[in-house]
Formats: sequence, structure tokens, C-alpha cells
Amino acid sequence: MPVPFDRSNYDNDNIFAKILRDEIPCDKIFENDHALAFRDIDPKAAVHVLVIPKGSYIDFVDFTEKASDEELRGFYSALSETIEFCTLTEQGFRLVTKSGPHGGQEVPHYHVHVLGGEKLEPMTF
Ligand code: AMP
Repeated sequence: MPVPFDRSNYDNDNIFAKILRDEIPCDKIFENDHALAFRDIDPKAAVHVLVIPKGSYIDFVDFTEKASDEELRGFYSALSETIEFCTLTEQGFRLVTKSGPHGGQEVPHYHVHVLGGEKLEPMTF
């Protein structure tokens, strides 16, 4: 049997935790009380932004199960504001989130990729 994905131990040294503590810089485009949006360092599209909650959540499941209503609202409102700020509404966009080993998640802090600004290739990401 494969070892289950462990959501009980948030790694405080992951790169997004360091960005949230201002220990490393980011190209910030939007922030509210519960979320931060910044450009991906290795963009896969003309627009490639990551939106992350400020709380310590590992993935979508962890966030959805443990975050307060206020945090959930703040995060999804930041996602909407980011899409609007990047003027992606009219032509469309892609949202991607990865979870755990099967999802290919590299950074163990919940994040949603916002991709757009051009016609995207079929998904290989
Ligand atoms: P994932 O595979 O969904 O965990 O993706 C992690 C994403 O974080 C990748 O697209 C990386 O390019 C991006 N990334 C890693 N380090 C940084 C950083 N310091 N600033 C911005 N984006 C980063």
C-alpha cells in the first residue's frame, strides 16, 4: 500500500512560507488580509500568477477543511481580484491547483496558478 499524503505537518520552511514572512522577495500583484498574489518565477504563460492563502495550509483539502469562512472568502476574493487585475475575464484563463504526489505538487503550501494572457496549449502542466 502506498504511504498516504501527510497533511498533518505543515513545513514552515517551504518557499511560500518564506515569501509570506518577507524573508525572500516576490513580484506581488495583489494582497488582502487572507491572501497574497504574486508572479510565478518560471512563467508557463504570458500571465502566470500564484494566489496563496496567508494561513499555513498544505493543499486544497487542508485549506477547505480547516480555514475559517473569512479566510475562504478572503482567498477566493483575492483570486477574483487577481483575474480582474490581470484583465483575463474577457478572453478567459486557466486555474490549476496541484495536490500531493499524484498531483505533482512541488511547494507544500496551498496555491492556485492563474494562467492566461494568450491562447494556452492543451494541458501538459
Ligand atoms: P507546484 O508544482 O504547483 O507546487 O508549483 C510551484 C510553483 O512555484 C512553480 O510554478 C514555480 O515556478 C513557483 N515558484 C517556486 N519558487 C518561487 C518563487 N520564489 N517565486 C515565485 N514562484 C515560485
